[in-house]
Amino acid sequence: MIPGPFTYQRASSVDEALQLAADGGEDAKFLAGGHSLVPLMKLRLAAPDTVIDIGRLAELSYIRDEGSHIAVGALTCHDTVARSGLLESRVPLLANAAGQIGDPQVRHRGTIGGSLAHADPAADLPAVSLALGATMVARGPSGTRQIAAEDFFASLFESALQPGELLTEIRIPKPDGAGWSFQKFTKRAIDWAIVGVAVQGGSVALVNMGSTPIRATAVEQALAAGSDAADAASHAAEGTSAPEDFNGPRAYREHLARVLVRRALEEARSRAR
Ligand code: FAD
Repeated sequence: MIPGPFTYQRASSVDEALQLAADGGEDAKFLAGGHSLVPLMKLRLAAPDTVIDIGRLAELSYIRDEGSHIAVGALTCHDTVARSGLLESRVPLLANAAGQIGDPQVRHRGTIGGSLAHADPAADLPAVSLALGATMVARGPSGTRQIAAEDFFASLFESALQPGELLTEIRIPKPDGAGWSFQKFTKRAIDWAIVGVAVQGGSVALVNMGSTPIRATAVEQALAAGSDAADAASHAAEGTSAPEDFNGPRAYREHLARVLVRRALEEARSRAR
């Protein structure tokens, strides 16, 4: 439970963070809220040579209405996202899901950028970003680029970010009044989802049903063809590869996915304006 040796550096600006990352090379890691990286370091599943603390970069903590989309700074903590009046009124799916992450301590330290960059298929916000059609903004040695959520989650705990690239902002198109729902099945309120479902209009994404967060494409196609919630939800496990673990076999998660997708679609329809 003790991390290996590493060099700690604290960045006081985005530019400095990028410079420190460039100097640190491939074995440098950014530290945001530390609620995923530090446990991994303690278990020695991560062993960065250099840890660059970006946790005090206030310039990356904001939620702004930019007209066509809402911009959320990567260092915005889950609690701020959950309590944002702007998000509650314009993107309630994101505010609601952030409010279901872990416990109050986790929500005050963990950040939206850290959660997305960590690319854990069992985390809530990656699937939410897929359902919302979010765009990630990253800054690195070769400048700034935008990455669609669809292209961001490369594999298990692997995002499209290159070494030294910093996720700076998440852009969320404003939903058009279509209904939404976030369903999360846990044993205890503070746990990660055994299975989760994010619905925004006709977009449906699944938590913990594969090695990355995934779109429930077969459900989306059934909805587009006019199926009702029950029929569309019966396709929820198609194309998934749910993990088997102490929570149960794959078939258990597949059953949960069908049940939760149905609930989510029914709730989303009841909320549509
Ligand atoms: P860190 O731990 O600091 O970083 C995580 C990774 O992302 C590291 O590799 C880091 O280098 C990288 N990184 C961080 N920020 C950036 C950036 N801006 N640009 C590039 N790379 C970056 N999550 C859920 O979704 N649902 C839950 O129910 C849940 N429950 C939890 C319960 C507990 C007890 C704990 C400890 C965590 C839980 N989490 C849960 C995870 C939590 O949401 C983490 O805060 C989140 O996954 C990581 O965010 P962070 O800011 O702590 O990132």
